Amino acid sequence: MASSLPRQAFRLASSSTTTIRAAASRRCASTLQNTGKRTTQWSFPKNSNSGKRAYSSLPPGGSPPPRETNKIAFWPFVAVFVLASGGYMLLVDRRKDMPPNPKSTSSAAAVEGPSTPAFSPTDVTVIFVLGGPGAGKGTQCARLVRDYGFTHLSAGDLLRAEQDRPGSQYGQLIQDCIKNGAIVPMEVTVALLENAMRDTLTAARTRKGRFLIDGFPRKMDQAVKFEEVVCPAKMVLFYDCPEEEMERRLLERGKTSGRADDNAESIRKRFRTFVETSMPVVDYFEKQGKVVKVDSTPGPDKVYEATRGQLRRVFGDKF
Ligand code: UDP
Ligand code: MG
Repeated sequence: MASSLPRQAFRLASSSTTTIRAAASRRCASTLQNTGKRTTQWSFPKNSNSGKRAYSSLPPGGSPPPRETNKIAFWPFVAVFVLASGGYMLLVDRRKDMPPNPKSTSSAAAVEGPSTPAFSPTDVTVIFVLGGPGAGKGTQCARLVRDYGFTHLSAGDLLRAEQDRPGSQYGQLIQDCIKNGAIVPMEVTVALLENAMRDTLTAARTRKGRFLIDGFPRKMDQAVKFEEVVCPAKMVLFYDCPEEEMERRLLERGKTSGRADDNAESIRKRFRTFVETSMPVVDYFEKQGKVVKVDSTPGPDKVYEATRGQLRRVFGDKF
């Protein structure tokens, strides 16, 4: 499913401290400019106090009160008023950029620290599907969607869709990462997944859903952030396959997939990233007792049978 980024692009922008600082100083500058304009408007013409007020108590031709008295009584009020309205405008300006519900979005968490996940694990079942490149995640996910009513969200597919979206500010970055088998900065992927989940639930007009998150999290920071701001996972399905078999599958797939990373050099880099960066994620969830391992060396039917057996074991027959 292609979930475009405009909505989260705003969130991402507001989640970057540097961007926030830049935006803040821009806002500051414009506030100062505005204040400058107002000061100009508020400034009195040079001879303004020479005009007589209709309700003046001065006798015609009477002399005005000494100028010193006027200064002492008037300028402190002007100063207090200008300072107070300047401060108020700054406050209003800052609040404008806050997300509507600061407790439920990833950007808020990035800015404010730990927060409540956007989706409750009582309503939403998240299963992370992990395994090396070519381990068979996509094939098994398609079957699970058919039989269990899961929504399948492939992090790689979402990233490729974002890369191809005209006007995306992350297109080049994503393209470079994918070609080199590197991990795209987590903010992008977490936002894409969160939005795709939200879109799915909104379209179905429900709070409840089942999601297979395929090929994610591939790095510890993604795992921690996703569970903190989006939704904790109930289970990690880990497809275990020897590297030679995965390489054989990927090279075969590369003949028709058109993917920029299904070539010998990218595959090598992807394997390295998998071992060095993604396996620690599996170990992390293993310690929490969430990992279910399935040997994915055999053909798809056998692997699926094993997968179903594991789901029954964990969630029961009625799942
Ligand atoms: N990718 C990423 N972050 C993710 C998932 C994928 O940066 O969370 C990038 C990474 O460069 C990876 C590529 O997308 O090598 C392809 O991922 P995909 O899941 O499509 O590959 P598969 O495991 O299915 O072969
Ligand atoms: Mg895949």
